[in-house]
Amino acid sequence: MLIVPEREIADLMTREAAFEAVEKVFAAMAAGDAYNFPVVREAIGHEDALYGFKGGFDQAGLTLGLKAGGYWPHNLEKREIINHQSTVFLFDPDTGKAKAMVGGNLLTALRTAAASSVSIKHLARPDASVIGMIGAGHQAAFQLRSALEQRDFDKVIGWNFHPEMLPKIERVATEAGLPFEAVQLEGMAEADVIISITSAFSPSLMADHVSPGTHIACMGTDTKGKQEVEAALLAKAAVFTDEVAQSISIGEAQHAIAAGLIAEADVAQLGAVINGTHPGRSSHDQITLFDGTGVGLQDLAVAAAVVDLAVAKGIAMKVDF
Ligand code: NAD
Repeated sequence: MLIVPEREIADLMTREAAFEAVEKVFAAMAAGDAYNFPVVREAIGHEDALYGFKGGFDQAGLTLGLKAGGYWPHNLEKREIINHQSTVFLFDPDTGKAKAMVGGNLLTALRTAAASSVSIKHLARPDASVIGMIGAGHQAAFQLRSALEQRDFDKVIGWNFHPEMLPKIERVATEAGLPFEAVQLEGMAEADVIISITSAFSPSLMADHVSPGTHIACMGTDTKGKQEVEAALLAKAAVFTDEVAQSISIGEAQHAIAAGLIAEADVAQLGAVINGTHPGRSSHDQITLFDGTGVGLQDLAVAAAVVDLAVAKGIAMKVDF
């Protein structure tokens, strides 16, 4: 069995490799070649932790396994380690033998950023020039860095519930040589692409904050009850997702479905657009919305890619197991 520890991931995994792995696995999911197993998530009654498993099997890429981990809210203050902790386990689909154990913390941020970037590549207008960020937490910087590679953006605008956190995304814009402007939510009307990545339980972005032709990637809502955008926005938009079952139950679409504003059949898989079986954006003025809920197959795809890179560079630790 191979081990790739968390400390090695930053030097091994690139945004390009994460993008390629996630685009490929979304396509395989839509083609019916890869599927996610039901998610397990439990409050374990210890350290206020939420722990669970996200797994799946990609028959096209022959990737089988799971990501185990969750959220330990007291890690940082008590132990000076990050609150989100995860590890990916890969198994040989021919034999069931354990194949690899891979640090999953940085990979989670990279695969989540890759998902919104894949949606921008396939759904945003080619002439998109202004990108708007809602959120300025841990994930937001990864999201912006990756999104800036998808179009020829010339300006970044941002809003955050805690405005004092905005310098975190301003730094990413500055690194990329782009101007940054903090705006009110109404100011998001200037954006051609909006990424929303917050832990909110009530909507910030309203339907009338969004201009015709905008692409929105809603990446924060991954649990029942969470919500980042007004449900009416989904009724105005062409809605796409990674996994329909998750979108309508734990994703942003849960609220529009519950309010009867859209039906399950209105939510399409982004992978179908990648495969060319769904036309994607139908006009310059159409609003497109990607409901990125985060699936286990994304984790397995980037973990498999990082194992290949680690083997190629002689970094993977081999243990007899
Ligand atoms: P974080 O704690 O670092 O940042 C949280 C962000 O949410 C900050 O910008 C904060 O200002 C904002 N926020 C907090 N309360 C808010 C409120 N009431 N209204 C509006 N904004 C508010 O978290 P993070 O690691 O950046 O993760 C952000 C979200 O993304 C979380 O909900 C997390 O579960 C989710 N996430 C989703 C995926 C996926 O695959 N879709 C993957 C990883 C994380």
